[in-house]
Amino acid sequence: MNLVWRAVHAEGTLMEQLFGVLAKVTWKPVAHIMLLALLRNAFVTSPHYFRYWDMVTSNNLAVASIPPPTGNMLGGAVTCSCKLCKKFVKFIRSQDLSRKFMGTETERTHLMNYKAEFGLQYKNTGKGDVRTLELRKTMNDKAYTDQKKAQDEHALACNLCHSLLHLRPQPDNVNDTINLLNSVVLSTPPPAVYPHTTVQVTTPITSMNIGGGAGAGVGVAHAPAVAPVAPAVGVPPQARPPVAQKHIEIINLDDD
Ligand SMILES: [Zn+2]
Repeated sequence: MNLVWRAVHAEGTLMEQLFGVLAKVTWKPVAHIMLLALLRNAFVTSPHYFRYWDMVTSNNLAVASIPPPTGNMLGGAVTCSCKLCKKFVKFIRSQDLSRKFMGTETERTHLMNYKAEFGLQYKNTGKGDVRTLELRKTMNDKAYTDQKKAQDEHALACNLCHSLLHLRPQPDNVNDTINLLNSVVLSTPPPAVYPHTTVQVTTPITSMNIGGGAGAGVGVAHAPAVAPVAPAVGVPPQARPPVAQKHIEIINLDDD
């Protein structure tokens, strides 16, 4: 893609077609960062580079600016809509990890039917017919996997935002976007390794090497110094298959 970009950069019509492709490719987000890193030295002042950077940045900000799930909301099916079950659903949809329910043995047994479905732990306390049933959320495998995936995607998007600030175009008169990037960068720890510095040069093609780029690194006040962006002499990372999107489905048992 790096080579294609270089070949068609001067051609407005061909660049339009290339952007059509770039907008549709289902690369892993880091692949776009790699391509930006390969292009930046030679094209930092190009409006095409600006447009591509802006597109990738918008996509990452959309993920990075939403807090990752805590996993305290559970998905699952509650088919009964009695008063007790409605209370139970409120608990399941809340961020609370445990809740106490007072009830007769019949009522407590009714709630216990959900134990396996939601992976709940339980404790009965008290004496007599009406006792307290405390239910505690644990994470079942699916909830854990879903949460881990969302958290990983969020962490990656934050790391990529750190790189995108370094990869920003010149002149960087895109204040709103830069402000949003800064707010992510200032509220998250810098990555141990900046993703854009991991570009691997596998097949040097010296004839395509465009020297004398304008790309001095962009300084970020608190960030540690990073390795300069690798000169664009290689083959871009291969496109990877899309990651299937999964999300927890939250039951909806609001008053009816
Ligand atoms: Zn019920």
